[in-house]
Amino acid sequence: MEVYKGMGEGSYKWLPDVDLERCTGCGMCAEVCTPKSLKIVNSDFAVLVRADTCGSEGHCVESCPDDAIHMEWVEMTGEHTAGEWKTVMRL
Ligand code: SF4
Repeated sequence: MEVYKGMGEGSYKWLPDVDLERCTGCGMCAEVCTPKSLKIVNSDFAVLVRADTCGSEGHCVESCPDDAIHMEWVEMTGEHTAGEWKTVMRL
């Protein structure tokens, strides 16, 4: 599977999208995320804090007991080789 497309403005990348209606903040996704791209906020819910370090491997999706994460093909801005990728739209 293609992980990302392009290098700068208008680039795309597969990233985890957390459904806040379903997320319980259990932390399983953050535990299995080796690059620490996900973080649990106030023990309530998971957020993607580092879109640039995400390896798009989907371990978080597999770990979630509540089916609260899905991968989305997301438009990015910035230069990913400099670790400055950000999502154009808030996930
Ligand atoms: S594993 Fe699922 S329910 Fe648990 S914090 Fe992550 S997204 Fe939320």
